[in-house]
Amino acid sequence: MIVILRPGIPASEIERLTAMVCAAGYECEAACHLDEKLLAFQSPSGAPTTDLVARISASMWVATVVGPDSRYPRVSVAAKRTRTSVKAKELVIGAGQFGLIGGPCTVEDEDTLLKIARSVKASGATALRGGAYKPTTSPYSFRGGGETALAMLANVAKETGLAVVTEAVDVAHVESVARVADVIQIGARNMQNFEILRCAASTHLPILLKRGMGSTLEEWLCAAEYIADAGNEQIILCERGIRTYEPSTRATLDISSIPLAKQLTHLPIIADPSHASGNRSIVPAVGLAAVAAGADGLIIETHPFPESAIKDGAQTIDLDEFERLARKAADLRRLGLVAEVGLEPTTPRV
Ligand code: PEP
Ligand code: MN
Repeated sequence: MIVILRPGIPASEIERLTAMVCAAGYECEAACHLDEKLLAFQSPSGAPTTDLVARISASMWVATVVGPDSRYPRVSVAAKRTRTSVKAKELVIGAGQFGLIGGPCTVEDEDTLLKIARSVKASGATALRGGAYKPTTSPYSFRGGGETALAMLANVAKETGLAVVTEAVDVAHVESVARVADVIQIGARNMQNFEILRCAASTHLPILLKRGMGSTLEEWLCAAEYIADAGNEQIILCERGIRTYEPSTRATLDISSIPLAKQLTHLPIIADPSHASGNRSIVPAVGLAAVAAGADGLIIETHPFPESAIKDGAQTIDLDEFERLARKAADLRRLGLVAEVGLEPTTPRV
């Protein structure tokens, strides 16, 4: 059981609560006092009684009691009775709002970026994606234009009003990325890089947290918990596919993670069908499936000439395809053809 405390709680109240819970047979975990924000208790017998939870919750210094053994109390549905909506300029994701993000894998030149930005905006996107710093599997691939690319993103954002979503690959980039980004992307390869999670969280910009390609749903939510624990709850989860034994796609979009995440967390979840599929011919189908499953948004790699994109061209759709996909996603939502998942905490099988 985890007890989340309000800021400024007096030490005497922490002692009183600890004594009360320990008297009911609980053991205070070794690191029971984390930054004076949480108390973690362990019970050999499982869930706390409702009576005990009521007595703890009666303290004006207790924000919430999460239990019995959640590893991500701040982002869990038990922590909050409403869904979180994440906002950056006109981009609003979650709590019923759908956010569309389009743009190239990697920023190339300013004219192309502006052309893409204008087109995706006309199709309904409210944010432009584009990497200035790229995590690359091979050290010989293009690793992004760095500061020059950030300057292009800043100019195009100014011109179009779109929010900028761009990745910080290293703690050392966070400061310069934060000067331009409206949302900092943490890529799949960095999902469990806890230093970068904390550092990005401390900018107080919204964070788009991609699921690691070999990570479980619980590990992903624990990574989000690092960001929330650093004081930033503006987190967008992004399902981008996991590694399975299927070689015909780059990854396998775990469609189940979308409704499951909605049962487990108050945070919004979007899908990235581009990296999940690695194949532009199936990106619209995979993206629409995610929308139907209840995704709060899509992030799509888009380029006027996908074949000549500097990176990830095979999975990049063109501007017309983006427009068609945006229209179909909007139709699905307008016709109510999307799954809705309630906020009631359930006993998940994760
Ligand atoms: C990207 O968005 O271009 C990217 C590298 O994504 P991921 O971290 O999901 O592989
Ligand atoms: Mn990419």
